[in-house]
Amino acid sequence: MKALPEEEEDRLPSFREIVQRFSLFSTSATCNPQIGPGGSLGCRCQNCTEWYAFVKGCSPFCKEVQYEVLTEEHVHGLANYLLSQAAEYRLPVMKVLEVGAGSGRLSYHLNRLLNQSSRDSKRQIMAREV
Ligand SMILES: [Zn+2]
Repeated sequence: MKALPEEEEDRLPSFREIVQRFSLFSTSATCNPQIGPGGSLGCRCQNCTEWYAFVKGCSPFCKEVQYEVLTEEHVHGLANYLLSQAAEYRLPVMKVLEVGAGSGRLSYHLNRLLNQSSRDSKRQIMAREV
């Protein structure tokens, strides 16, 4: 099992790193999801247990609850979309408001990429969390 690199301040894991680390989308004899009494789906195999700990923030790889698992591809795609919209509408300034931002991780990483991408342009794009 490949170790997931600890999230550095300026780096998110890639989709591939997440999939490999937790063996997502693979089948094994030990993985046997069952429907619980409340209708929830769960599994107690090692990979699923590590995945649940990861998204609940109880993992050495992530110490905060993740309502969405951010990957480098996810944030790059969102940054590119925002840059294309700002260009299409010829906006000199674009402010992005992230509602329900939690810890502000998405805004942090989005601003990091937007600042890199718009360094040469006159556009000012910034994300704020609420
Ligand atoms: Zn499982």
